[in-house]
Amino acid sequence: MKLPFAESYKIKMVENIRKSTLEERKKWIREAYYNLFNLRAEYVFVDLLTDSGTGAMSDKQWAAMMEGDESYAGASSYLKMKAAIKDIFDFNDFLPTHQGRAAENVLFSVLVKEGDIIPGNSHFDTTKGHIEFRKATAVDCTIDEAFHPTLYHPFKGNVDLQKLEKVLQENPIEKIPFVIVTVTNNTSGGQPVSMHNIREVYKLTKKYGTRLILDSARFAENAYFIKTREDGYQHKTIKEIVKEMYSYADAMTMSSKKDAIVNMGGFIGFRERALYEEASVYNIMFEGFVTYGGMSGRDMNALVQGLYESTEFEYLQTRIHQVEYLGNKLLEYGIPILQPIGGHGIFIDAKSFLPNIPKEEFVAQTLAVELYLEGGVRGVEIGTLLADRDPKTRKNRYPKMELVRLAIPRRTYTNSHMDYVAACLKNVYDRRDKITKGLRIIREAPIMRHFTVELERAH
Ligand SMILES: *Cc1c(COP(=O)(O)O)cnc(C)c1O
Repeated sequence: MKLPFAESYKIKMVENIRKSTLEERKKWIREAYYNLFNLRAEYVFVDLLTDSGTGAMSDKQWAAMMEGDESYAGASSYLKMKAAIKDIFDFNDFLPTHQGRAAENVLFSVLVKEGDIIPGNSHFDTTKGHIEFRKATAVDCTIDEAFHPTLYHPFKGNVDLQKLEKVLQENPIEKIPFVIVTVTNNTSGGQPVSMHNIREVYKLTKKYGTRLILDSARFAENAYFIKTREDGYQHKTIKEIVKEMYSYADAMTMSSKKDAIVNMGGFIGFRERALYEEASVYNIMFEGFVTYGGMSGRDMNALVQGLYESTEFEYLQTRIHQVEYLGNKLLEYGIPILQPIGGHGIFIDAKSFLPNIPKEEFVAQTLAVELYLEGGVRGVEIGTLLADRDPKTRKNRYPKMELVRLAIPRRTYTNSHMDYVAACLKNVYDRRDKITKGLRIIREAPIMRHFTVELERAH
């Protein structure tokens, strides 16, 4: 008999979670103004809001925390992190930051000026926020296949090289300080970027005289897909693949809350010494001294251990397998999801799920609210709320897809939880014809509104 798949870890500590009643959830979501970010976490049974900072650390990560060096300058934890970043990504210089967006803030303070153009593959929301905050423009050059929810493409996160070259040709290169490629591409559904594509984008940046920066939150998951889907990489280790990916990068920004499996942390990796030196000034102003930058020594230690664990094939296989397990259940139930199934979560196609809700009434947010009401499962909208208003016209931007993301925290839930989530969605799907009311905005912030927006039922 062929042995079935089983997780590559066992559980050493548990945290209790509590179910609630429909009546309770109705009250709580109304009080939260139909914004799942406003809910108390204790009102959630299975929390798939994000895979960011929500993973379970290993015994070795906790042990490493005990050895954290909290010295202000020159801590051994800093030196350990420097050595790990050299070892894994081959960058000589790095700056620790308190999380990923802080890395963007520091690096973009040096590189991004008003009027600049930053091409990339569906920029992450905070990345786009930091670009637009500086009155620059993010240009999405993702391949067209990414916008077809069910079309199979092994690397749907890829950059369209023709679209990119057009941007590089048609604008003065001084206005394009870098191209940013996000691995994996969260916004398009946790879809990977191929090694071939990273290499070709790098070549284009060199042909035109600019940089390639990798937005690296899920770099290890991306490497897993390269190993399992791209010709020529089956026999390479994840660590070898990661080395090659970063041989094509001039710098990296990292949210360590994802593939470094820590609750808080981030960093910037640099190829150019001069850029590191310029960025150090901003790091000291915004984050902390260059040898801790907003992180405690213990957190740097846990991060280092997390980087080594997440670049183990067995870990990645367990992780991606769980995401696929949930995705395949949903497909079995006929629920429309993005395919192929991505690395860190399932993306539900809300427009197909709820065809009766007009786009002005926030289709994906409506579905996320219904899923919460059904069983206390919290997902997140990746649709019109997240796409925000156009900074110039202030009109709502309607994205090509309205998605609800169910992000799976690393090593946190069991497959029974996945069964539970799938059943909740099935029940909502069975009553979808009765869902005819969407939502409307009462209050919103001028930028990144999705975190704090307040809504009410439409009509
Ligand atoms: C999470 C994330 C960020 C921002 O990082 P934070 O740690 O949340 O500040 C940037 N880019 C990508 C691709 C991310 O997933």
